[in-house]
Amino acid sequence: MKRLIYVSFNPGRENWDKADKLLAEIGVTKFEHEISVTGIYSFTLEKGDIRIDKLINGLKKQNLGKPSLREERVYTKKEIDSAELLHLFITTYCGDGYNVYGTEFDKSNICTKCGSSGEVQKSDLIINKTEMGKKSIAITYNFEIVILDKLADILKENELTGYKLRPVRHYTDKMRNEPKLFQLVPTNTLPPTIPPTKIKKSDAYCSKCNKNGLYFDSELYYSRKDLKKICDFNNTYEYLGEKLTRGISHPRVIISQKAYQVLKQNKIKKMGVEPVNIVD
Ligand SMILES: [Zn+2]
Repeated sequence: MKRLIYVSFNPGRENWDKADKLLAEIGVTKFEHEISVTGIYSFTLEKGDIRIDKLINGLKKQNLGKPSLREERVYTKKEIDSAELLHLFITTYCGDGYNVYGTEFDKSNICTKCGSSGEVQKSDLIINKTEMGKKSIAITYNFEIVILDKLADILKENELTGYKLRPVRHYTDKMRNEPKLFQLVPTNTLPPTIPPTKIKKSDAYCSKCNKNGLYFDSELYYSRKDLKKICDFNNTYEYLGEKLTRGISHPRVIISQKAYQVLKQNKIKKMGVEPVNIVD
């Protein structure tokens, strides 16, 4: 696993010469500069590369602001193919979900302290199907997973476990049948993660329900002895994110190596996975 740092900064149009010179001085030769759109400079370095500190100091010295640094973990094929469980990231969207188009949620068990967590989806999911385009899988802005009937058939043929399918409806009377979409809802919940899993709390964190305002900030770790039941699709015990007008906190999805291989062999793109650590 490599830790890469995506570096970006915007020195302002009048300082492009200075920025070019600084990058040349510290030895960053490959970078992107989106001149026409935003003026942002960006490049990627490995974590710990001395040039990152040099850039921060150089920009500070010349009053060119602070760079934004985003860390991403990158895995080899071998690391991914040998992991028993994988944290799934679907990276393409099909527009709004949650209650934006009238999907009904049962609010009778919402948290009495934060009023944010505890909503349970009651009706079929309603989206704008045109936003699905030709995608086989996508998530709504509220992280509901939507799949095409063809992919639903593939999951069934491969006898994958741990999920149910719910119909997805278009928000108007048009497109009643086509394309045929389903919401994939994992039905098995894993036990809580264990240290050293890092879970960050935002200002919206609620100590009563522990289901609002949490964010994973590391790889995930599980204790082997806690993992009583593992399916091909699983929800984390933890709810991540927080209630916003167009979304609520939700579990993350953990898939088996088998589910990953099925998705990969069927050329499901626009998804990423990260190996999950299981500690004996
Ligand atoms: Zn709460």
